[in-house]
Amino acid sequence: MMQRLTPEMRGLGMTSQRARDRLIDRLASRLPSDSRKPISDRRVLDVMRMLPRHLFIEDALASRAYEDDALPIGRAQTISQPYIVARMTEALIEHAVPKKVLEVGTGSGYQAAVLAALVENVYTVERIDELLRNARRRFRKLGIDNIRSKHADGKLGWAEHAPYDAIIVTAADDALRPELFDQLAPDGVLVAPVGKPGVQKLLRYRLVDKEGGAMWVGESLGDVSFVPLLGGLV
Ligand code: SAH
Repeated sequence: MMQRLTPEMRGLGMTSQRARDRLIDRLASRLPSDSRKPISDRRVLDVMRMLPRHLFIEDALASRAYEDDALPIGRAQTISQPYIVARMTEALIEHAVPKKVLEVGTGSGYQAAVLAALVENVYTVERIDELLRNARRRFRKLGIDNIRSKHADGKLGWAEHAPYDAIIVTAADDALRPELFDQLAPDGVLVAPVGKPGVQKLLRYRLVDKEGGAMWVGESLGDVSFVPLLGGLV
């Protein structure tokens, strides 16, 4: 759970509550200029309204934290665009709020922190040690104590704590690995970007009863642009 935020954590000016409110209002509204689906899940919007995204990026970029953009977090990685974080979270909890979630690709820790406010336990793995250390520092500072993290290659999930009620992958691979499905609970849901750079789709898989047997059914939630899922530890 998150502890009370100090005024410094809440931010000022470009990082203030007003800046967060403006961003969240935009995520929830349909703009004439775009065709994307507005975010409608109150629970997701409320969490993102409260969570200070500017604490998940470097100070030099903090003034841009409440623009709806992905931003660099070092080591050629990015914190995902707020709309995408909201969309993935909404897709993950739409049918039932999972208790136990695995995230592959901790990055800044922002997506994990959003999930931690909604579910009981978050497990997250990151292959770049430096990014994971920064993310852990942020979890501690914010008093978030229901995230367990590991420096590991998450392509094969995190078998030790399986099964998970939901798995979210925040880097794109050409295909989804069977190991991830194997680590899902029977009513589990998996959300992941799949495809080569420039032609990625955000996919959601759920186990659906069909003609007597259960089978994994995937649906596309739209076009996305994620950094690639890579192998090995650094
Ligand atoms: N969820 C993050 C998004 C980070 S971008 C956030 O909210 O900020 C994706 C992250 O996935 C990067 O940090 C990258 O290093 C990590 N990643 C890529 N391949 C990985 C792998 N095989 N295992 C674990 N993490 C991986």
